[in-house]
Amino acid sequence: MVGVKRVIDYAVKIRVKPDGTGVETNNVKMSMNPFDEIAVEEAVRLKEKNVVKEIIAVTVGPTASQEQLRTALAMGADRAIHVKTDEDTVPLHVAKLFKELVLKEKPDLVILGKQAIDDDANQTGQMLAALLGWPQGVFASEVVIADGSMTVTREIDAGMETIKMKLPAVITADLRLNEPRYATLPNIMKAKKKKIDTTTPKDLGVEIKQHLKIVKMADPPSRKAGIKVATVDELVDKLRNEAKVIA
Ligand code: AMP
Repeated sequence: MVGVKRVIDYAVKIRVKPDGTGVETNNVKMSMNPFDEIAVEEAVRLKEKNVVKEIIAVTVGPTASQEQLRTALAMGADRAIHVKTDEDTVPLHVAKLFKELVLKEKPDLVILGKQAIDDDANQTGQMLAALLGWPQGVFASEVVIADGSMTVTREIDAGMETIKMKLPAVITADLRLNEPRYATLPNIMKAKKKKIDTTTPKDLGVEIKQHLKIVKMADPPSRKAGIKVATVDELVDKLRNEAKVIA
């Protein structure tokens, strides 16, 4: 099972709504979260190696999120599930919904992205593993599955860490795990015939309770233009007396 989130395309310059309640999503290009493309790609590669039998792409979001499911199907997912909701969701909601789907579909492996580039939360995979009581390999940059167990190499601050765990498990994809393929036109056409099942949080028995309220959103302060200094002495003087960053 692979998570696919609809987010503002990474190349779009984000605009904060004038009333400061959020960011503008009207008439803005939306795409699959880039780390989810890596997650789908990894699932497809595992299927090509005959390690995986079936790939189910799952999204939680409004009707338009089906576009991202179609992309996942065109990349090689076999079928998809759309958990339809127009509510704002946070990682705990998504993790609870995935848990219910996992209990229904019984996958041996869930692959999510390491983080969604809109909320930058980096929480859903960890929460899902905790809710299921499954092992987790997060920030995966290499995944090897053999004899019912999985070896995950993860990028950590101090370098690379290799961990081994039993399946079923949750992994989250880091940037260097693979390079996602582009969906070819024939595969995009074929994906139109693949099945998307729709369900809702209510059907899955999960309440989307809002625990957080966004009080204000604002653009970061714009940077002032820099200046050129003539000498090192002048630089030191300005750092000491104007910027006051050295004593
Ligand atoms: P986050 O914890 O929000 O940074 O998201 C981490 C990962 O969880 C994403 O890369 C997705 O794979 C998955 N995920 C989060 N939200 C959703 C969603 N609404 N629908 C599907 N997958 C999601």
